[in-house]
Amino acid sequence: MARKCEEFIKGLADYIDGDIEPELCDEIEKHIGKCNNCRIMVDTMRQTVSLCREGKEERLPEALERKLTGMLKERWDKKFGHS
Ligand SMILES: [Zn+2]
Repeated sequence: MARKCEEFIKGLADYIDGDIEPELCDEIEKHIGKCNNCRIMVDTMRQTVSLCREGKEERLPEALERKLTGMLKERWDKKFGHS
């Protein structure tokens, strides 16, 4: 389960960006269906990214996505005791 979540987080930025392999996208969709923690995370990230894109800021949300992904991965690692 922990490993699955980790893989999930790795593909998350691409998934949010819509630039992702259909197979991986399908896997992520399935995982979200089963894993409440990751579903909440995706919702939060999607919201953040879309807010950023719809806003007047002209900066790309790429840096934000990376920051979020790193932050969340760190949190996940702690939670699942990965190291
Ligand atoms: Zn998960």
